Parts: sequence; C-alpha cells; structure tokens
Amino acid sequence: MTVPFFDGTRQAAALAKELEVTAQNVLHSGRFVLGPEVEAFEHEFASWCGAGHAVGVASGTDAITHALMAVGVGAEDEVIVPANTCVPTLVGVAATGAVPVLADVDEETLTLDVDRIDEVLAPKTRAIVAVHLYGQCADMEGIRRVADRNGLAVIEDAAQAHGARLNGKRAGTFGHAAAFSFYPTKNLGAAGDGGAVVTNSPQVAEHARMTRNYGYSERDYAESNGMNSRLDEVQAALLRVKLTWLDSWNARRRELAERYLAAIAQLKGLRALTTASGSEPCWHLFVVRTPRRDELRAALLEAGVNTLIHYPRPLHLQPAYSGLRTADHLEVSERACREVLSLPLYPELSDAEQQLVIASLRRACRALSACRGLA
Ligand SMILES: *Cc1c(COP(=O)(O)O)cnc(C)c1O
Repeated sequence: MTVPFFDGTRQAAALAKELEVTAQNVLHSGRFVLGPEVEAFEHEFASWCGAGHAVGVASGTDAITHALMAVGVGAEDEVIVPANTCVPTLVGVAATGAVPVLADVDEETLTLDVDRIDEVLAPKTRAIVAVHLYGQCADMEGIRRVADRNGLAVIEDAAQAHGARLNGKRAGTFGHAAAFSFYPTKNLGAAGDGGAVVTNSPQVAEHARMTRNYGYSERDYAESNGMNSRLDEVQAALLRVKLTWLDSWNARRRELAERYLAAIAQLKGLRALTTASGSEPCWHLFVVRTPRRDELRAALLEAGVNTLIHYPRPLHLQPAYSGLRTADHLEVSERACREVLSLPLYPELSDAEQQLVIASLRRACRALSACRGLA
C-alpha cells in the first residue's frame, strides 16, 4: 500500500452524481458569471463564517488584492507579511502596487510573531496580512492590538483556514477583511480556481464587488480601478454543494490530527506545532518538525508514505523577492523551512492509511535515532 499526500479523486467520486447534476443545471441555465449561484453562495459562506458579507472572486490570491484595495492600500504603501508563507500571499499584496515587508514568525505556531512586528514598522506601513498558516489562526488579538496602536488595517489570509476558530469565533471575522481560497486542495475546494473576500464591513464588501468587476459600481460606470476577477456560476454552484459537507470534513480532519498528535507525543526527535490556547485549527495541513527532515522524508517515501514541504523556501530567499525590505533576522522562518514536513491529512484518508503513516513514522524515528541520535 502507498499513501498519497492528497487524492482529489475520492471526494470527486463520493459526490459525483450531485456535482454532475449541479453543474449541468448551471450549463442549462445560460447564466455563467455573477448570477444567482454566486449570490447564494456568498450568503451561505458568509453566514457559515459568522461574518456579514462574502464576495466571490477568481482566486485566493485575488481575494488578498481586493481586500487590501478595499481598505485603501495601494502604491507607496507598505504591507507587513510573515516570511514563512507561500508565494501567493506576496503576489496578492504586490498586485495592489504596495510593497510587502517581511517579518518573522513565532517559533511555536509559525504564524506572525506579534512581538516582532515592531521591527519592520515604518511611516509607510498601512496594513498587516496575518496568515492563518496550516489552518491555525494567527494571534489575532495581539495583531489587532499592534495594528490599532499604529492605525493599520488587518487582512487575514484565510486560504488555509475555512472553519478554524479562535476563542470560538471563526477565521474571517477578526480583521478588516479576510481572503479565502477555493483552490481544489483547500478544506473547501472548487473544481478549478475560486476565492472570496469575507468581511463584516458593508463598505469593504461593496468595494470588493466593484474591483472584481472592472471597478464598476453599475454597468459601464467605473467608480474605482479594478480587475476582471469574478467567481463563476459553475464553481459557486459546486461550492454550495460542498459547503454542506465542510463541517463533517473538518471534523474528520480533527479526528485524524488528534491521532497524529497522540502518536507523535510518544516519538523522540519529532514534534508537532503548538496549538495556541483558545485556538481550534481546521487542520488544512498536519506539520511535524525535525532537524533531520530530509532523512525522515526519504524513509517515509521508502515505506510508501508521500509527504510535502510547506514551505521549502522563505519569501526573502525567492529570486523574485530578494530585494524586499525585511526584518534584520528571519531566523525562525529560515529554520522552519529546513525542518517542516507535512503528513497526509485529508478527510478521505482511511484509518488504515493513517496507521501505515504512523507505523512508518515510528520505524523511521527509531532508525534515525539508532544511527545518529535525533536532535
Ligand atoms: C492557497 C493559498 C493562497 C492562494 O490561493 P489561490 O486560490 O491559489 O490563489 C494564498 N495564501 C495561502 C496561505 C494559501 O494557502
């Protein structure tokens, strides 16, 4: 048996009939862009998040751009971003014309380190993008405190955080606006690209509705600059079906994560990330850390267990972004990139597959510590 890191065919097969009928209905309706399915999905998703508004857009990356534009960020402004996130967070910021500035992350959670935001604050700083990495909310209370003190907007990158909670409230409700992605591998994934801006502010929602559609406030009347960045009807209809499953999928993810956590607590040389107090991750990814990551990864692959690295290279070491202003030291992000390893975790992962992952982890840790002593 081999365990795939992710297998999109399982969910597709389980929901095949319903998704086919749903897509067919849209095809027969003749409405493909900004129609009733998008509108219904926006209401359903906002209410699922516990937020006032959702605006469907073309991708999670675009959602970051729309959210920042809606709070007034543009050229000349600086936006603080954690160095340990994926490239699209930066792409979404840069598309506004603003300049991303990189700060380091917290050693325990690998989300933005609130105590180190000061290191990169400057007169031009206008916003902070807090990334809910791997499905755990960043320290939003701390981030809001720093932001409020300095008059900054806070945008949540919630692309990995559908349903993640902090003190009982769901991701998407903490900042001035939040960006969700419906890329197929996310906790809620479309059959293609999609995203949403989620916010409690009617003004932010209204602005995002303009910028996703050429900047139009009404037909052929451009009130702001804009993009063509709309969620389409087929995707929205499919997402409506899948949204009814999201709570049970997230519950299965939690069950699998708790089993991994219990197993890893028994293993020498391997640790999971800390779940902060009051935080209930939605377990988009299950990440372990070890200084001997590459050896562990090779041993797991040998045993048929496929893993991935999120992320192998911090943003300031990406060729396209080597010139960005950053904190003087980003050592936590740099070390994380050398040590993190993501284990297979998705709702359709079977118990037997997870047992193979855990047994392989045990064997690999024993072998590694026998040959050199795990750090
Ligand atoms: C997936 C992802 C994005 C980008 O979403 P797309 O829909 O692929 O554009 C942004 N930020 C994070 C943290 C992500 O995981």
